[in-house]
Amino acid sequence: MSKIKICEENCEKNNIKLSLFNKISKIFCNLLFPKGIKCLLCGRDLSKVQEIEFCENCFKKLSNFRVKKLCLKCGDEINGDGNFCLVCKGKPRNFEMARSIFKYEGEVRKLIVKFKFNNCPYMSETFGALLANYYKETDWEIDAVVCAPMSIKRKRKRGYNQAELLAKSFCEKTGLKFLDILIKAKDTSQQSKLSYSERQTNLQKSIRIVNDVDLTNKNILFIDDIFTTGATADICSLILKNKNVKKVYVLTLAHTPLQIPTEKGLLSK
Ligand SMILES: [Zn+2]
Ligand SMILES: [Zn+2]
Repeated sequence: MSKIKICEENCEKNNIKLSLFNKISKIFCNLLFPKGIKCLLCGRDLSKVQEIEFCENCFKKLSNFRVKKLCLKCGDEINGDGNFCLVCKGKPRNFEMARSIFKYEGEVRKLIVKFKFNNCPYMSETFGALLANYYKETDWEIDAVVCAPMSIKRKRKRGYNQAELLAKSFCEKTGLKFLDILIKAKDTSQQSKLSYSERQTNLQKSIRIVNDVDLTNKNILFIDDIFTTGATADICSLILKNKNVKKVYVLTLAHTPLQIPTEKGLLSK
């Protein structure tokens, strides 16, 4: 065998060894320093795999509701004396209690808009984990989870119902059962000119329960992305209670800041 031939064979063997080494080191590298796992807010690579995909700095930036005095019913921020916000004082709610993790403003608002409108369903993993962590600190005893329904037309247009993704991710992390039982027959998004009660009537007409699951004496958790006036949560709670549900709790990612009742409905301050 010529020297050149031997040399070529050795080179080939070395190349195979090298590429194997490269592959193995790449696997280890990816485990230690995963590529493509980025902070959902600033986009920087995260140094490790983590359930909540925010870097430490960005996580601190997200406005948090927990330090404030909250309405005992809807979880809105309240100033001064009393235990309830103006809305809950004026109107009994059908849910037991509603809580949100964040205030719907600043970076939180940007993130949720991205999640809803920029085809980013994967963000539900981080948000679902945040909701699950929040839930684990409450004393709510929940039997099953539902989500705010979306009309088929709207879901087709967007590609997904963000509330459903949140609820499913939440259930994966808590082990609770997701019930896909609420449906919305008609899109009611274009009703900003209507009063609060007109909006509620419209919602009530468009939402219904489709499955014959026995909900008697169950405690249900209703999950949505944003709590604005609480109209959707309220109507869904009423529909569930008409099916003999015992209590409905509401958990959302964010709550629009302080609501002020006006003749036309609610205005954000
Ligand atoms: Zn970041
Ligand atoms: Zn309230």
